[in-house]
Amino acid sequence: MKNKKKHYTLLGILLIMIIAIVSIVFINNNLNNESETIKTEDQAISEEKENGLEEAKENSEVLEDELENSSDSQDEGKVEGEEPHQKPQQQQQQKPEDKKYKENNGYIEGQTLPSEPTYIKGVLIANKKYPLPKDYAPGENVEARAAFELMAQEAKTLGFELVAFSTYRSYEYQELLYNKYVERDGKENADRYSARPGYSEHQTGLAFDIGEKGREDLWLTEAFGQSEAGKWLAENAHRYGFILRYPKGKEHITGYMYESWHFRYLGVELATKVKDSGLTLEEYLGIDK
Ligand SMILES: [Zn+2]
Repeated sequence: MKNKKKHYTLLGILLIMIIAIVSIVFINNNLNNESETIKTEDQAISEEKENGLEEAKENSEVLEDELENSSDSQDEGKVEGEEPHQKPQQQQQQKPEDKKYKENNGYIEGQTLPSEPTYIKGVLIANKKYPLPKDYAPGENVEARAAFELMAQEAKTLGFELVAFSTYRSYEYQELLYNKYVERDGKENADRYSARPGYSEHQTGLAFDIGEKGREDLWLTEAFGQSEAGKWLAENAHRYGFILRYPKGKEHITGYMYESWHFRYLGVELATKVKDSGLTLEEYLGIDK
């Protein structure tokens, strides 16, 4: 009897132990599962966050693309208005060029200066695509100076005294100027208003930066174009052989922002033709693409 009782007790203890072990294992398993689900939820949340960020990034990229496209289409709109029949061709051609333009600020990457200046249809050209030789140093053009003096005489009778405050600039001087601007405003900004050495029209001796005496505050400003002197110049300079070289809204063609003060001497005949055409010199000569 005593032995039997002992057996039952042992069996009972064993059973309890088995139940205890089984339940411990079960609970443990459950705990593990739960912590696993917590982990995956955290992962899911962080993944969602990452996705959210990715999405946000993607959205902002889309926005940027849209902004770019809208400015592209604005430009195309202008071209379209002028020559609608050329639109499909231009759409395909312009976009890669625009991108290239933005990348190099209008310059051709890796281009070296030529040994001879470029004449197109007899016109000496100096822009971001057609540089001048480093040693091209003709000085201020005599004919252009004489024309300017005549123009200034007429302007004086109308009440404003014109000053050509910057005309011929040598390669070396342009180099000095450009480097100074890059240091001050960065390359991208400097490229919008100052030519790299060898690329300045001032090196031809035919470019005149014009302002009004007594209104030095307006020199090299857009506001000069709104002054009486600036407006008169834009309308009448061609009668003396000069054109406003970098008009408003033509930066993508000329490579320069609007410069109310920068005039290029072409001679009366050609200047009048270009003025009457309403085109930039690049467009007029067919070198805008
Ligand atoms: Zn200039």
